[in-house]
Amino acid sequence: MSACPNCRSRDLTRVDMRIGEDEVRFSRCRDCEHRWWVGAQDARRISLTDVLARVTTSAGAR
Ligand SMILES: [Zn+2]
Repeated sequence: MSACPNCRSRDLTRVDMRIGEDEVRFSRCRDCEHRWWVGAQDARRISLTDVLARVTTSAGAR
């Protein structure tokens, strides 16, 4: 069970998406609008910078 790391709310919106080779889970807190990503497989935290870097990399490869 995950909660918002910012305000501890459990009222979250989750969206699974694919960025390049990686399955990631986007989460957004409905209470404080905090947003974050984790890896879908290993649940590691992914920074926004990392997400944007992957998007840029995969777009540039095509
Ligand atoms: Zn929150």
